[in-house]
This record gives sequence, structure tokens and C-alpha cells, in this order.
Amino acid sequence: MAVKLVEETPYRFRIDPVDGMRVPGVVFASRRLLPDLSNDQALTQVANVATLPGVVEASYAMPDVHWGYGFPIGGVCATDIDRGGVVSPGGVGFDISCGVRLYTCDLDRSRFAEVVGPVMDGLARVIPRGMGTGGVWTLSGRDQLDAVLRGGSRYAVERGHGVERDLDRCEDFGAVADADPSQVSERAAQRGMKSLGSLGSGNHFLEVQAVDAVLDERLAEAFGLRVNQICVMIHCGSRGLGHQICSDFVARMERVMPAYDIKVPDRQLACAPVTSPEGQAYLGAMAAAANYARANRQMLGQAARQVFEKETGRTLDLLYDISHNLAKIETHVVDGEERRLCVHRKGATRALPPGHPDLPPDLRDVPGVGQPVLIPGSMGTASYVLSGVEGGPAFASTCHGAGRALSRHQAARSVRGAELRRRLEAQGIAVRGASARGLAEETPEAYKDIDAVIEAAAGAGLARPVARLVPVGVVKG
Ligand code: 5GP
Ligand code: MN
Ligand code: MN
Repeated sequence: MAVKLVEETPYRFRIDPVDGMRVPGVVFASRRLLPDLSNDQALTQVANVATLPGVVEASYAMPDVHWGYGFPIGGVCATDIDRGGVVSPGGVGFDISCGVRLYTCDLDRSRFAEVVGPVMDGLARVIPRGMGTGGVWTLSGRDQLDAVLRGGSRYAVERGHGVERDLDRCEDFGAVADADPSQVSERAAQRGMKSLGSLGSGNHFLEVQAVDAVLDERLAEAFGLRVNQICVMIHCGSRGLGHQICSDFVARMERVMPAYDIKVPDRQLACAPVTSPEGQAYLGAMAAAANYARANRQMLGQAARQVFEKETGRTLDLLYDISHNLAKIETHVVDGEERRLCVHRKGATRALPPGHPDLPPDLRDVPGVGQPVLIPGSMGTASYVLSGVEGGPAFASTCHGAGRALSRHQAARSVRGAELRRRLEAQGIAVRGASARGLAEETPEAYKDIDAVIEAAAGAGLARPVARLVPVGVVKG
């Protein structure tokens, strides 16, 4: 598909419908951040997504958009459930409910500097990482796995791995409804048994950060953030279990598409009607994987909390936990009418407006305070906390990171791991874990400029920046 962009505002670009597109494409970005149309397929993918049955409004791209499996990463698309709308595993991604959680700690940067060694060594000891290394929680069998798949962080907290307040500060209060463990294949379950409470590979991390700047005093206060404060950010997902579920359902939907008379421009967009048996089975399995991912972050957060309590005498308070790879059934007004939609966010996070009933109870009634949005940048640059805003476009969504600028391979060729480690340490960032190659693949230059991405997200009215955080210690997957 030949993609042409029309600049609507400095932060909003449109792709008019051509070749089977049912709705336009809308790209929230700045000129500087736009993918290069001559050698980047990400915007073609935005156009491809606009051909899906039942798609409404537009196929959206966030400022961190980059190429992904079928759907771009940094993409949002919603389909109308009652008008033949489809659900597509590729629109969620392989790492189902991959996401980020952020804890605040009542500790200043200067005080942390005195204990950085023992804290980072403690974290490196308790946080399993890399491929197939086992997890913090060894499950007793399939029954207990199914309890995790149904209960998510809630089940973890019930079993003593965390406190009730953690759940108030989780998207969906810790567990997605309608999980159906019976749709999780034996193979997926096998892969999930041994990795609950583990980071996984390279792009996943546990990072100690310091608040570098407060960008909105009132929101920062509501979120409990102040300058120089120490925070802990965790990024991980559903490990092999989620990956296997995605693979299982891509194959299954590819087989049934002809029966529903669905044609897509790219096989990787394999999908089925939300109301079909295959659509329902996928959503049940996806919800199960989402709960696994949430329990995973809960377990790692609890392990980090224990290290902080032991080494610093201070605990960790959860600010928020948010997914950036998920499909959700939500009601939104489209063309003046309330519709039930299946909103796919892949490499994009939900950003609820102030006053929304799904906000944490203690933030719900604070005027002007929206959902906390967590946007990591890279291990050598900044990360941000934002807030959802009134009337946010793209079904109240925003970006999920800086977004990749270089492939892993390109990144690994651009720098030597040992040299990068020295550079980060010289910048005052303690590095633990990660092989030299793994580190090089994640070099800050592999990602787009996070400050420019946040400026575009704010400029496009997607969310409001609250605080800028910088890394002081990182445990890499
Ligand atoms: P993804 O879920 O697409 O793998 O990654 C989300 C985002 O995390 C990336 O777009 C990137 O901006 C960010 N990121 C990757 N590695 C790190 C890291 O080590 N530290 C921080 N703060 N952010 C990272
Ligand atoms: Mn992931
Ligand atoms: Mn992720």
C-alpha cells in the first residue's frame, strides 16, 4: 500500500483511505519523529490495520510507532463488536500484557547513593532474568497455575506476596475478568510453570530511578512524586506463556478466516470476529496471559520491596501498574453513539481521564487527576510519568516508550557491551545482569529521543507530563 501523509497539525498526521482501508490512519508524532516512508514499513502497517472488518474512527499510531508483527508497535485500533468487528492476536502482540509498574520510595537520591552497592547486588540476586532461568514463585502444578491465570496480582497478594493497597494501584485492580484457563494450551501452560516472577530477555528491566524534574506540581503531589525521590520501575510481561498463546491463536485464526470471509493484506493480521468461538477463545486465553503478566510484575515488585526494606529501611509504594499489550472490551462514543468496542493497544497504554470510575479509589475524586501513565525511555536516558486527560483521543490511549530506532542487530553492531557498561557507570548508573551483547542491543541509541516523544504526546493532547525520571541503577533482562 502506498502511504501518503497529510499534516493536520504539528503533532497529527493523516493517511487518507486507499486500497481497502475502511477508515483513515492517524499518526500522532512530530515531523522529526515520523518514520521515514522510504525505508520504514510502520506506516504501511498503520494503513493495513485500517482494512480490518468493523474498525472504527481510525487506525492510530502513537509517537513511538515502529514496525511490529502485522500491527505496528505503538498502534491503537478499535473494532465494533456488534458490527462484525474482529479481534487479532497480532494487534495485542506476543508478550501479552507486557507492561510497566512504578513504585515510589521515601528516600532521596543522595541517601540512595550511600547504599547503591548493597541494594543493586541484592536486586541482582533476587530478580531472575534472561531466558528460561526459573522464577521467584515455583508453582505446585496446573491447578495453581490456573489460579494465577484467573487471579493475577490479586491471587499473588492473597498468597502473601504484597499488600492490599498494591491492588488499588493496578489496572483492573490486579486481575482481568473473563480469563479462561481452559483455552490455554498444555504447551503454553508448560512454558508458564517455571517462569513466574522473572524478567525475561533484554528489553525487560528493573530500574532504580530518581525524579529529575517535576513538570506539573499538582499532579506530582497527587501521585506522591517529588524532586530527587527514588523510584523503582519494572518492565516485563507474560514470558513464554503469553508468547505461546499468541502463536497458537495466530495459527488458529489463519485457518478459520476463510470461513468468515475475512481477507487481510498481511497474514500477520490474522483475526476472527470478536463474537465467534475463536474470538471468544482468544480473548479468554489472552485474559489468562494478562493475569500471568500482572502476577509476574507483582512477584518481582515484592522481591524488590524486600530488598529495599532490608537495605534501606524504607518500603516501596506502588504508584501504578499498566499494560501496554492488550485488547479490552470498552464502551466509547463513536459518531455520537455509544458502541461496544474491542480496543487493541499494542505498544500503547490506556490513559483514563480524571474522574473515571476505573481510577484508583484515592485518585478518582481528585479534580484534574487522571490515570498515571508510565513511559520508559532507555537505561541511559529519561523515563516519564504522565497523567490521562479529559477528552484524550484514540480511545484514551498514549504511547508506551521511546520506541525502537535501531533493530537489535543494528544496535549490537553499533557499540561494544563492555564499553557501554563503562559509559553508563561513568554517568552514575549502576548496571547489573545482562550479557555484553544483551547490553549492546539495548544501547540508548537504539531508541528514539524520549524527550521528543513525550513532547509529541503532550502536544497531541494524549496525556499530560507529570515528572521526568533518570536511571541510577538497572537490572537488565
Ligand atoms: P517494549 O515493550 O516495546 O519492548 O519496550 C518499551 C519501551 O521500554 C521501549 O520503547 C524503550 O523506550 C523502553 N526501554 C527499553 N529498555 C529500557 C531500559 O533499560 N530502561 C528504561 N527506562 N526504558 C527502557
Ligand atoms: Mn515485553
Ligand atoms: Mn513491553
